[in-house]
Amino acid sequence: MITTIGIEHFKKMFDMAFSEVKAKEQYFSELDAQTGDGDHGTAIVTALNAVNNSMKQASDLKMMFTDAGFAAMSEASGSTSTLLGSWLMGMYDGVDGDEIDAKGVAAIFRAGLANMQKQTKAAVGDKTLMDALVPAVEALESNQEAGIESMFSAATVAAAEGVEKTKALVAKFGRARNLKEKVIGFTDPGAASMACIWGAFEKGIR
Ligand SMILES: [Mg+2]
Repeated sequence: MITTIGIEHFKKMFDMAFSEVKAKEQYFSELDAQTGDGDHGTAIVTALNAVNNSMKQASDLKMMFTDAGFAAMSEASGSTSTLLGSWLMGMYDGVDGDEIDAKGVAAIFRAGLANMQKQTKAAVGDKTLMDALVPAVEALESNQEAGIESMFSAATVAAAEGVEKTKALVAKFGRARNLKEKVIGFTDPGAASMACIWGAFEKGIR
């Protein structure tokens, strides 16, 4: 059972997130093309590539998150990189020390979510990445006793369930909002890529 993680674990998690999302880039763009402009695969890969490249240079965990967030925001324009950047910059606020225990892991991801929530009013049920991210963070928080690997397993399951639920929803944000009931049946691309990121974190932690 892993009881603490440090900078190398986080680097590996985000490196895995980049490669797993990159492998599904076309799929995410195809999902976006169903109800939006079809650029989500490119947007999330560009942002995660900037994050990953920035993290490779990092030697301090706290600074790593703020630098990576800034890198995501300056590399690309658009809501995907802005939200990803705000997520990472928020994680900076949650870092306490170099060796992060289960409680600390939950605190980092809660802080990231809290900062992202300053950027967007999107909540669970609005057919956005929040439908995957919010349940993932809640799963981290409620599985702390089980150890860090189990926290990420639970978060991965919760995020995937959240993606499934987006099919039944109408969109409250983005271009898909204009399509009203016509988007019912389609998966939200932002939620799908966010769930892919959590699955990659789970693999990266091992
Ligand atoms: Mg798009």
